[in-house]
Amino acid sequence: MSNTQHKVLLISTGGTITMVREAGTGALVPADIETFKAYMPELFAGAIQVEIEAFNPLLDSSDISPSKWAQMAQMVYDHYEEYDGFVILHGTDTMSYSASALSFMLEGLNKPVVFTGSQLPVGVLRSDAKENLMTAIEIAAAQDENGDAIVPEVTIFFEDRLFRANRTTKRNAEHFSAFNSYNYPALAKAGVHITYQPHLIHYNSPNAPLVLHTGYDSNVAVLKLFPGIGRPVVRAVLRAKGLRAVVLETFGAGNAPSDKWLYRELKEAVDRGIIIVNKTQCNTGSVEMGLYAVSLNLMKAGVLSGYDITTEALLTKMMYLLGEHGDDPELVKKLLMTNLCGEITVE
Ligand code: ASP
Repeated sequence: MSNTQHKVLLISTGGTITMVREAGTGALVPADIETFKAYMPELFAGAIQVEIEAFNPLLDSSDISPSKWAQMAQMVYDHYEEYDGFVILHGTDTMSYSASALSFMLEGLNKPVVFTGSQLPVGVLRSDAKENLMTAIEIAAAQDENGDAIVPEVTIFFEDRLFRANRTTKRNAEHFSAFNSYNYPALAKAGVHITYQPHLIHYNSPNAPLVLHTGYDSNVAVLKLFPGIGRPVVRAVLRAKGLRAVVLETFGAGNAPSDKWLYRELKEAVDRGIIIVNKTQCNTGSVEMGLYAVSLNLMKAGVLSGYDITTEALLTKMMYLLGEHGDDPELVKKLLMTNLCGEITVE
């Protein structure tokens, strides 16, 4: 590691980590960035130089929409040359969506972008805020002996694990270990030391330029199948005005009821140009269409395989691809089934 002081840009979007209790209702609301900084003198006392940019106002992550993903990606892009790495403070509720979206929007990334937050506000004595944030900053600044970033990916650090962002899901609203990556191992574990797993990390070509993609199309939907699902519900979703792509959440290895009407509705939607991708409702494992007879109809209807992707990654990948290549549906379909930045396991 070189002797120059490393610089990290902390981009605060809000979330519990920045929150205080509102007088009157007692509900948690984001405070302002100065209040947050006052609770975190450690930020400016370490060996790493930390500078802060904040959303104004700070937001609960339920209010983070695709335009805010574009704003975050733009902030990273605008300051890319000035910093060794980036930490994005974000509420946990939709962190996996935002972090997945940024993994697609920041093509050719060669520096760390680490999302983190906390389950308890920074001002609460037992809060997990400081540990999460200080470790995320260390990871964002970490370089090898050649001065190259150790984890040049979009990631989520929470409690003691660093995960590839587009493999994560919020799994717990109570425990400090709020996230998991069911289909891909952790990229690092933080105990007394931070132990990285270089063989699991995604590296872009070191000379690749950072390409920013801020276009998106949110005319997408998630249709979750359940035993007894009726035609009117399926129809209402598949015929929604403006709809362009659907995440079809299926059973097990990608199975669906064999009702003829379901096949017909799906086939008609595909024929109308709607892209439908099969995503298993199971957290772990992959879609394997054709393994059971009950998934053959989906294949015949033109439904694509989502392999082992998360719903968060699939939905944001659809929005990104439709925004970038919406005029070329065949390319969108091809790229949906291609591993762009470690989000799916395909041969
Ligand atoms: N509601 C909060 C948010 O997502 C929860 C959290 O930050 O953990 O902004």
